[in-house]
Formats: sequence, C-alpha cells, structure tokens
Amino acid sequence: MNYISTRGQAPVLSFEDAVLAGLATDGGLYVPETLPQFSREEIASWSGLSYQELAFKVMSPFMAGEVPDDTLRELIDKAYSTFRHDAIAPLIQSGHNEFILELFQGPTLAFKDFALQFLGHLLDYVLKKRNQRVAIMGATSGDTGSAAIEGCRHSDNVDIFILHPYQRVSEVQRRQMTTVLEDNVFNIALKGNFDDCQNMVKASFSDQSFLPEGRQLVAVNSINWARIMAQIVYYFYAGLALGAPHRPVAFSVPTGNFGDIFAGYLASRMGLPIDQLVIGTNANDILHRCISANDHSLHQLVHSLSPSMDIMVSSNFERMLFDLYDRDGAALAALMADFKKTGNLQLSETALASARKLFTSYRLDDESMVAVIHDMWQKNGYLLDPHTAIGVAAARHTRRRLDIPMVCLATAHPAKFPEAVRKAGYQQDPPLPHHMADLFEREERYSVQPNEIASVQQYMAEHIRR
Ligand SMILES: *Cc1c(COP(=O)(O)O)cnc(C)c1O
Repeated sequence: MNYISTRGQAPVLSFEDAVLAGLATDGGLYVPETLPQFSREEIASWSGLSYQELAFKVMSPFMAGEVPDDTLRELIDKAYSTFRHDAIAPLIQSGHNEFILELFQGPTLAFKDFALQFLGHLLDYVLKKRNQRVAIMGATSGDTGSAAIEGCRHSDNVDIFILHPYQRVSEVQRRQMTTVLEDNVFNIALKGNFDDCQNMVKASFSDQSFLPEGRQLVAVNSINWARIMAQIVYYFYAGLALGAPHRPVAFSVPTGNFGDIFAGYLASRMGLPIDQLVIGTNANDILHRCISANDHSLHQLVHSLSPSMDIMVSSNFERMLFDLYDRDGAALAALMADFKKTGNLQLSETALASARKLFTSYRLDDESMVAVIHDMWQKNGYLLDPHTAIGVAAARHTRRRLDIPMVCLATAHPAKFPEAVRKAGYQQDPPLPHHMADLFEREERYSVQPNEIASVQQYMAEHIRR
C-alpha cells in the first residue's frame, strides 16, 4: 500500500517508510492512498474473533505486500500479550444502551498502549530487517512518554529519549517513565514547560546533524500512521460485540490531537456502520468550536484536570480535512498555510456539512467534569478518569438516537489522575492495579537538563548506543 502526504508535495512512500518518516517533507501527514473496504458479509464473519485475530484482519491490508502475514500475526500477539485483561478491550455497560470501552488494560494504563505496544514491535522488525538503528525523540506531558517507553524498552535497534517538563508531570506519570531501567531508555527532565520540550523536539527533527553518522530520529507521536492504524481495531471489536454490522453503533471519544477519534472515522469509512462520532473536549475546545460554530481559531492554552487533552491545535485534524476537501493536496496546503498565517481556519459549507453528518461535539470545563465522575461513582460505583468523564458527558448531551448503542471510550485508568478523582469527592488516591502497586518503591533514573537545546542534544549524542 502506498502512502501520500495530505499536502500533495512530498514523495509517495511505502508503509514501512511512512512509519519511519513521521511528518512529510511538505509539512503534511501521511495517509494511505486508498482505504481498505470491508463488505457487510466480511465484517459479519469476524464476530467470533479474538482481539488479536481481528487486529490481523483490520490491519493487514494497510501493510499488504510488505509485512508477511505470519510476521504480522507475531507482532500483534507480542503487542497485546502485555495487556492485563483477557478481553484486551473489555466492554462495560454504564447506562441504557450506553457502554464504556476500557482501553486502559495495557502496561501504562492508557489507550496509547494499543498503538505503542504494536509500534515498538513493528519498529523492531523493520529495523532488524534493514540492519538500521534509530533514535526516538519525543516530548510528553504524561501518557505518551510512558506508553512509548514501554513500547520500545525491548527494541535492540532503538534508543528512546523522552523529554518531560521537570516537576510538572504527576508522580504516577513520571514514575511510569523513570522506573524503566533498560539501557536504551533515557528520560530527560527539562527545566522548562511542555512547550519548551515540544519545541526542542521539533527543532531537533528539522536539523538532525547532532546525531552520530547514519542515525535518524523517529517520531512516536500520533502523526505516526501506525498509531492511527492500530487504533481502528477496537472500534470494530466493540462494534461487533454490540451487533454490528447488523445494527449501527455510535462512539464518544475524549479528544486532544484527534488521533483516537480519527481512527473511528476510518473504521466507518472502511465499512463499520457508525451512526455518530462524538468529540468531547475540555476547555481547550478548538474542535468543539469548529464543529459547532465553524470557528477553528487559535486560543490560549488552558491547563485542565484532563491534561492529556490540553492542546491548542489538533494535529490529526489535518488528515480529516484532507478527506473533507476531496483529498485535494493543493487545497489543503493553501488552507494550512493560511491557518499558520492568520491563526484561523474556516471550513467551506460543504466540508462542514459533511463533517456534521457524522460528528457532534461537546465541551466540558473542569467543574462539570468532576461532577460527572462524582455522579458515576454515586450511581454505578464505577470510577471514571477525567478524560473518560468528558466523553461520557459529551455522549449524554449530544446523543442522537437512544436505540443505537453508544460506546464511550475509556482512555485512561483513574489511578493516573488522582487530583481529579479526589476533587470529585473520592476520599483517597484511587488504587493502582495490583501489578503496579509497588510503583512508588521502584528505583528511578532520569537526567535533569537545562532548558537549552545544545545541552539536550549533547546529552543525546553522548548516550546513543554505538
Ligand atoms: C492522549 C489521550 C487522549 C487524547 O487522544 P487524542 O488521540 O490525542 O485525541 C485522551 N485521553 C487520554 C487519557 C490520553 O492519554
């Protein structure tokens, strides 16, 4: 399968090259040239499959002709063997025709494990085959860093450097990263904020001359196509469990960079009958403003109790826009250039109308979000994490049809976000799952670096394994 850039000016790449490339050279994002299509009969025939078997069916067309079937099966089995629940993605009923899809049963307790456990093994396979070594560099305000480290800790051909803002991530989140002691894992606590971390990563990607000869950086944020691809699977898994393709389903997704919900959109384009996709945002509501009022303009960042959704711009929305503008790379390049210049992007009437057929949106501030956690705990004895709570509220406020099952994606375990849970009236820190109960006793290792790119790059150059 070939991959093309949303801005139409970058080289067409194979699957493997697109995974290693990250951002396209024209500033766009890679997307498959065509989407695999599954018939109703084919989807119906998958109803008894395990998560791993289904993952093979859904993902293999994206890698056709590149990753052999047996290899792909192995990569999938390894990726999901670290999950702590036999269902991988268990479905819990939370209300009338309303369900919670628990995507936090992986090693770092957030949905990002679905993609990053797979990506780690995929990179391992591709790099060994090519006899190539790479360095991963990423910035994190929490969940991405730990999931990426867990995904790559066993990859011989990868050194992974994750920057987090010094003393500005929660203790659970920091320890999930810094207690991984493999010698290819490097945590950098930067004396700056998350933006400083991110800017340093961006600058390093655009000038990689500080790396040893023959090395390149690889991105593991959600611009990496393989991450989106792996997330399509759980939409099919939940849909099948609830009667698709014989009946439609709906999903509600707490949304930051639009990676998770974009995978749901792809599932619908590939044949899963999805009636509605709900975008839930916190006070960083650019997507809610865009869908509800055609206002996709930059606002100041707000620090919320759902920090994994604290973004100003949703990077993967560009992939959606590409489809909404009939895959016209030149039109998209112009649109994005204009957005960069003015900080504002207005959708055409046609594009907006087409998005609104599938998407609704809702915004929740911290106070209302905390009330949702409280309410669900009181009524169901079930503890939501702050991100999931936003999705649940968004579903309840914008749901179109009560006769269609609504699946709310639970993107993190509540133990990752004790502050929000305590504000909801829960009297203690929510307990970590048993396999992590000793997290606070484990040895940590990280390097504190000044907010200077030269120091960080020197540290990396010195520590990359030869
Ligand atoms: C990353 C993350 C999100 C946002 O996902 P996107 O793909 O960026 O939209 C939501 N909730 C949690 C817990 C996350 O870690």
